Amino acid sequence: MLEESHFYFTKAADVLDLPPRIREILLAPHRVVKVEIVTESDDGSLLHHFGYRVQHNDSRGPYKGGLRYHPQMDEDHAAALANLMTWKTAVVNVPFGGAKGGINCDPRKLSRSELYGITRTFVEGIKEIIGPNLDIPAPDVNTNDQVMGWIMHEYSKYYGFSPGVVTGKPLHLFGSPGRSEATGRGVLYVLDEALRETGRSMANITVALQGFGNVGSHAARLIAEQGGKVVAVGDHLGGIARSRGLDVPRLIEWAGEHHTVKGFPDADPIDGADVLTWEADVLIPAALEGALTRENAGDVRAKIVVEGANGPTTPEADEILRKRDVLIVPDILANAGGVSVSYYEWVQNVQQFRWDLERVNAELEKTMRLAYRAVGDIAKERNVDLRTAAFVLAIRRVAQAALARRPTVRDIEF
Ligand code: NAD
Repeated sequence: MLEESHFYFTKAADVLDLPPRIREILLAPHRVVKVEIVTESDDGSLLHHFGYRVQHNDSRGPYKGGLRYHPQMDEDHAAALANLMTWKTAVVNVPFGGAKGGINCDPRKLSRSELYGITRTFVEGIKEIIGPNLDIPAPDVNTNDQVMGWIMHEYSKYYGFSPGVVTGKPLHLFGSPGRSEATGRGVLYVLDEALRETGRSMANITVALQGFGNVGSHAARLIAEQGGKVVAVGDHLGGIARSRGLDVPRLIEWAGEHHTVKGFPDADPIDGADVLTWEADVLIPAALEGALTRENAGDVRAKIVVEGANGPTTPEADEILRKRDVLIVPDILANAGGVSVSYYEWVQNVQQFRWDLERVNAELEKTMRLAYRAVGDIAKERNVDLRTAAFVLAIRRVAQAALARRPTVRDIEF
């Protein structure tokens, strides 16, 4: 996965004619940490997991990025996702760097107390390298506000009251209004920008979605509220479709209860993987990386792909889709709504002040639309796709900050 994010970086670095030594400075992660997490299960047996935190770059501010709990979590995933975070925070111009981490556990197979024990032990292992001005984790796949609340509590035991050490916390524990839906809401705004460019509107589109967790479910709800028709949804257990449009609020209730969309009444059952090639105007991959590959990219029927997930499109699939004139709104732009509202949450925490939901959403909308237009302008100027343009914008911002900190390197023109 790291190779793939380096591939996109290199493509944009070539457009910028970035000198090799600066590429090297920007690609090397600053710190890679692995901790062993040995805890007790409810029946007294030992559980043994590995936790990771990769801090890629902090030239523009404290490291920032999610924590993922997934059996396949490893150093390569953490490094690739940390790298993406550096570019993502730069694209939306929030004053953070990039990091990512997680634990190779499967929360579905753990009790609440086991998950708490694993999280607590992980914080013990990384507490010296995280902090409100150092590195600020957030939720990602299979982690949520509850896990963030535990992390804040554990960290605060060592360092005193520190709500700013994590974002995505529960609302009643110094979280921000609007954070839980922020990534989905960001997807809505960039989709709206993409539709405007192609002369369409939300009210006359059909959408297929892979993943119905935090990102997917909120994106689906908000799109449906604007009149868009969500016609197919898939998750790790299966999929459902309805050509007249799914009842998204009911589907959210159903998925909350059953932990899957599979089996939802009033829809046809389909294979989970088929959502990616379903007949729809817009495809939103919002599950895991590597969903669109050389094998299925040729069959994608959507004309717009909005990457809710991180790294859902392999470089081969990216090329196939571009050749077929599919507009791809890349992850580092499309799903940056989450980190944007994480920034607002952190601002509220460090200022000990509260914003209301209207202010959060207004700032988010401005941030996402500005970012889309900045990326779109570069795409037109340089005659490149949106992904390359987003990397160009991000690399330029990070490189300028990194170089301004060094005594030996003089400013370079981009
Ligand atoms: P989540 O755990 O809330 O939901 C993940 C969803 O993906 C679930 O519906 C799950 O069933 C589905 N899924 C998992 N494996 C699958 C598979 N093999 N095939 C099909 N579906 C599968 O996670 P999330 O927070 O919604 O994150 C989803 C993606 O968005 C990830 O790539 C994450 O890195 C990215 N992201 C999340 C945020 C955020 O704020 N949560 C922000 C930016 C990016």
